[in-house]
Amino acid sequence: MAMLTANHLSDQSRARVILMLGAPGSGKGTQSSWLSKQFGIPCLSTGEILRTEAKRNTPAGFRLRQILATGALVDDDMVCAVVGARLQREKPENGLILDGFPRTVQQACFLDSLLADLGLPRPTVIDLEISKEGLLRRLAGRRQCAVCGSVYNLISRPSRRGSRCETDGGALVQRDDDTEGVILHRMEEYEAFSAPLIDYYKTANYHRVTADRDVNAIAKDLLSALSMPARFTLSSAA
Ligand code: AMP
Repeated sequence: MAMLTANHLSDQSRARVILMLGAPGSGKGTQSSWLSKQFGIPCLSTGEILRTEAKRNTPAGFRLRQILATGALVDDDMVCAVVGARLQREKPENGLILDGFPRTVQQACFLDSLLADLGLPRPTVIDLEISKEGLLRRLAGRRQCAVCGSVYNLISRPSRRGSRCETDGGALVQRDDDTEGVILHRMEEYEAFSAPLIDYYKTANYHRVTADRDVNAIAKDLLSALSMPARFTLSSAA
């Protein structure tokens, strides 16, 4: 993605909140962390936070491990409490990118009042759309650095250091929930909850971007979408 630079961005002075929606494997994490660097705003991944919490040897950690292992969604109250506490603590006054939140209408309602509370603007919603075959292909090839969490893909984004992270040399491993059975359940969960969520945001600043493409092509569309005025819908470019 080196060819796109911060020069492409406009209106950087205003706080912005970007929500990355999309099925597991649609590239939310990759695009979110790239956008985070481009816009200079933090990125919060609820999946990452929950995976960290799940490693704790507490009753909540144990319960989370069980839920994540099946690919089911974690209950709304718990996820909202985690996101609420984090944003109230960090008060991201220049805005932020949320990767994987909200995933239900209840979470979206919670987020609306949280953003208002923090004096942040209504979000720009990016919906990464991808075919089922594309998702399975991507998830099977996804690898993550065991140390810093950077995401690679054996096919679309291999590490220049082979099975080691380019940043810190950490081992690249497959996520526990990237096995086929769990992937299928995660997709079912996504399909069950995504339609009402998209309906909720359709009248807002909502952009659907086709994600079955090269990461640079997707990134280019994201920048266009994010520089455009509210209520503009980006048409799929594939
Ligand atoms: P992700 O890394 O975004 O694919 O999320 C991994 C897993 O974390 C999901 O399969 C869910 O079990 C859980 N998770 C992440 N974000 C949420 C959310 N907003 N609501 C409920 N569960 C979530």
